[in-house]
Parts: sequence; C-alpha cells; structure tokens
Amino acid sequence: MMRLPKFTYRTPRTIAEAVKIVADSGPEAQFVAGGTDLYPNMKRRQQLPKTVISVMRLSELNQINGDGQSGIRIGASVTLTDIVENPIIKRDYPVIAAAARTISTPILRNMGTIGGNLLLDTRCNYYDQNYEWRKAINFCLKKDGDVCWVAPGSSKCWAVQSSDLVPVMVAIGARFRLVSTMGERVVEAASFYNDDGIDYLQKRPDELLVDIHLPPANGWRASYQKLRRRGAFDFPVLGVAAYLKFETTSGTLPDGRASDTVTDARIVLGGIAPSPVQVRDAAEAIIGKALDEDRIQTAAEAAYIKARPLDNTDFVYQWRKQMARQYTIRALTELRD
Ligand SMILES: Cc1cc2nc3c(=O)[nH]c(=O)nc-3n(C[C@H](O)[C@H](O)[C@H](O)COP(=O)(O)OP(=O)(O)OC[C@H]3O[C@@H](n4cnc5c(N)ncnc54)[C@H](O)[C@@H]3O)c2cc1C
Ligand code: SF4
Repeated sequence: MMRLPKFTYRTPRTIAEAVKIVADSGPEAQFVAGGTDLYPNMKRRQQLPKTVISVMRLSELNQINGDGQSGIRIGASVTLTDIVENPIIKRDYPVIAAAARTISTPILRNMGTIGGNLLLDTRCNYYDQNYEWRKAINFCLKKDGDVCWVAPGSSKCWAVQSSDLVPVMVAIGARFRLVSTMGERVVEAASFYNDDGIDYLQKRPDELLVDIHLPPANGWRASYQKLRRRGAFDFPVLGVAAYLKFETTSGTLPDGRASDTVTDARIVLGGIAPSPVQVRDAAEAIIGKALDEDRIQTAAEAAYIKARPLDNTDFVYQWRKQMARQYTIRALTELRD
C-alpha cells in the first residue's frame, strides 16, 4: 500500500488567510482542493509539499455567478459534479458540462474540482509510477533524475497536459483570476500553459486560483471530442476542442444545409503535448467560409499535421496523430449539424 508522507494540513477560511499561509510557508507549501491529483502524486513521491493548504473552505471559490448573457464566473473549488449538473452551465455552456462529464468517475467528480483540473500535473508513462518503479529506471528529468526516457537526447520534459477542460477553456477564450499577497491578476487561458512538462504553468506557487471567467455565450458554439481507451474513466490521450462563430446567411450548401459563414474559429488539441496546441491553420481554413465537407477536411488535415504526440501515454502515438484528423472532423461536423 502506498502511504502519504507526513505534512502539515491548514484549512484557511478566507482568501487573505490562504495567501498569507502560502506566502509564509515558502516554496514547500501547496494548495489542495479535491486532492484527486495531488494526493496520488504525494503517495508516489512526485510532489512532496511540507504544508498542504485546503481551498475547500474558501466560500468565494465555491460559487457560480452570472449566465450566458453576461458571462459566468466559476469558483475554482466548484466540483466537477456541480459543473456537470448546474442548470445554467448546462444551458449556456453545454461544452463545459459535456467535457467535465468525461473526467474520471462519478465518485472522483464529487471530489475533484474545476480549479484542480485546470492545474493538473502533466502526465507520462515513465512518471506516473510508484517510487520503486521510478527508482528502478533511475528516475527521469521531471523528478529526481537527469534523463528523459521518452526523448533521451532532450533537455526538455515532454510530459503531457492531460486535462479535459484545458483545451475547451483555451478554445472558448476563458480567463483565470489569480490572487497572492502581491495582488491580483487575470490571465488568458491561451497564455497560461507552458510547453514544458516540468514548468507547465504561468503561475507562481504562491498564487491562488480564485475563479474562471467564461465569455458571454451569445453567437458561438463549441464541441469537445475525447480519445481514451476506456469510456468509463480514462485520461484523454487526445482531446479536440473546437469553437466556432457563425453569421447566418440565406444560402444553402449542395446537400441542402444552410451555408452560414464561419466568422471566428479556434481548434485546440489536448493530450498530445505539455501544453494545449492551437491549430491556427485549421481555423484559417474555415474562417470567412461556409463549413462544407471540403473545408472540414482541410481543417482536419491541418490538425493532423500539427499533432505530434510522443510515445509516452496510452496507444501508439502514430495512431493518436491519425485520430487528430478524425476527431477534428467529428467536432466540426457536430457544430455544423
Ligand atoms: C483514476 C483517475 C482518473 C482521472 N481521470 C481524469 C480524466 O479523465 N480527465 C481529467 O482531466 N482528469 C482526470 N483525473 C484527474 C483529476 O481527478 C481531475 O483533474 C480533478 O479535477 C482534479 O481536481 P482536484 O480538485 O482533485 O485537484 P487537486 O488534486 O486538489 O489539485 C491539483 C493541483 O491543483 C492545485 N490547486 C488546486 N486548487 C487550487 C487553487 N484554487 N489554487 C491554486 N492551486 C490549486 C494543487 O496544488 C495541485 O497542484 C483523474 C484522476 C484519477 C485519480
Ligand atoms: S517526458 Fe521524459 S522527463 Fe518528462 S516525465 Fe516523461 S520520461 Fe520524464
């Protein structure tokens, strides 16, 4: 049985108290929400905070305010189950509810939070193992070692950004509010993730994620398609998030569908690299045009070209690359139909 190491556990009641504790405790302190990522990592000796600060009693982090007209603010400690079941999110941001529903299992969704999901540690077959397993291969660059077993000549870690909500947040243009004793800042989801499996966030350890701001929901649609081995509960090994805005026109396509023009688009791939990957060529292929079969194929080809998964998660990486094309077709077809 894997046991947790010893640590001090703190339960602040206010944001001011929480950020003071983390500032006073130094780099060896870490926040915890549901603990479904942090505690397994501590048991595997991948993350070893001396002080663990729970964010679950900070009432501001448990709230959902606003709606699709004004935009919505979701507190970082709102559980994934509450995201899936919230009537406003289901009505105005169905893509968020749908993506959250694919995360882990119902029991883990009762514990796991949206904030913890957006700050998830990066994953790799050579890293997500117990201490003895990692010791047997002399560890790796991400923790305790000096070689990357995926790309031995590389000085960079290629562990994979594996959250289902991250590509969706980037696609729809979400923003994150961070608070520390030094003040507050709001960061675009699109610039929050680093392409580095070790230093994967644009966030200092002393910053508390307070809430997530979603833009007004008028005039756009989004889809999330997830590839995994077991539908019941696996991390994504590819996720395609597509965001489209349409302008209604009176014309029709040869197959009889309305030829509405795409006025804005973002296609984002998750589960294949240390950060979410925006496929700008795919968006450019469809912006200003009607979304017919040819354009969907062109956008999907651009996603295929851009996807460069490595051999460090489930499934053969060449096949995951192929699936980037298929899942982009799936996402765009869903939005067109
Ligand atoms: C079996 C299993 C299957 C899973 N499947 C999936 C899956 O399919 N898809 C997926 O995306 N995830 C999956 N997960 C990962 C995880 O359950 C979810 O991502 C969950 O949402 C994490 O939230 P949490 O509150 O438990 O995070 P925690 O473990 O509490 O925290 C995660 C990280 O975020 C930090 N943190 C948390 N809240 C804050 C805050 N407010 N401010 C600053 N830092 C904070 C913590 O310090 C930690 O580094 C799975 C986990 C398990 C164990
Ligand atoms: S990508 Fe390389 S350095 Fe990073 S976790 Fe995997 S083996 Fe370790």
